[in-house]
Amino acid sequence: MTQKYVENPMVAWTEPKVVGECAGCGGDIIRGEDVYDSHLGLIHSRPECCMDFIANSSLCRVAGE
Ligand SMILES: [Zn+2]
Repeated sequence: MTQKYVENPMVAWTEPKVVGECAGCGGDIIRGEDVYDSHLGLIHSRPECCMDFIANSSLCRVAGE
């Protein structure tokens, strides 16, 4: 019989630790994920989240006009 190391069975079944909300997609940020820490909040280190973040926090307009 193989011995599995389980520190605490209760901990193993709990949800991942949510440490914040993504300022881009609005989803949960889980401890251990790669994020950008901006002055407006945390953003997942994913291209779509960065695009959403810029779209949410900026005004889209035509340059020079
Ligand atoms: Zn995100």
